[in-house]
Amino acid sequence: MGNGIIKILKFMWDCVLQVVYDGDEKCILCEKELYNCNYICADCEKRIKFCNDPFDIKFNNIKITSYSVSYYSGAMMELILKLKYKSNFRAGETIANYMIDLVKREKLKFDFIAYIPMNKSAMKKRGYNQSRYLARIVSDSLNIPIIDCLKKIHQTEDQIGLNHDERWENMRECFKFIDKINIKNKRILIIDDVVTTGATTFYCAYELIKNGAEEITVLTGAKSKV
Ligand SMILES: [Zn+2]
Repeated sequence: MGNGIIKILKFMWDCVLQVVYDGDEKCILCEKELYNCNYICADCEKRIKFCNDPFDIKFNNIKITSYSVSYYSGAMMELILKLKYKSNFRAGETIANYMIDLVKREKLKFDFIAYIPMNKSAMKKRGYNQSRYLARIVSDSLNIPIIDCLKKIHQTEDQIGLNHDERWENMRECFKFIDKINIKNKRILIIDDVVTTGATTFYCAYELIKNGAEEITVLTGAKSKV
């Protein structure tokens, strides 16, 4: 029953969006007229440097397979910045659609979708968690439940300007599993907007592994160098 109501609400929300955006058929990045149903034009899409291969995040003898849609540059970087700092949710939808394509192409299998949490003050400042926003779209499209099972318990320094080791130290013991859902023997996909050293995603994954998750896969919009 709950699922039916959610679908009706989602349909109504889509109708509202259609009214709001009707006639606004411009690329959200370069403002060129669009002749397709996307939010970005073909020229901007060409500026996305897609990643073809998964990579491993390794630490303390644990290896986590990670996928990123693209490198953190060009049009993907612009989309992420628009989602994070300009509340441009169409940019978020564009990123999430690329993520959904990747899940289908790579035939990734998982039981739940988790995301990287934000602490209370960051949440208050931005008003939304961009990782959860991406996770929500992926969850709706694939019909796989999203779980709010991680909490950020420490305020971290901004990662910008920190080197590799400092980033790992900065994120240690930052996240806590919220013990309200049984994840024992479950396969979980963790979603985030950008992965850099992998320290953030590793410590989130580690909390889930400690609490019984069988397999963790990470999926991000982009992969960045420090
Ligand atoms: Zn464009």
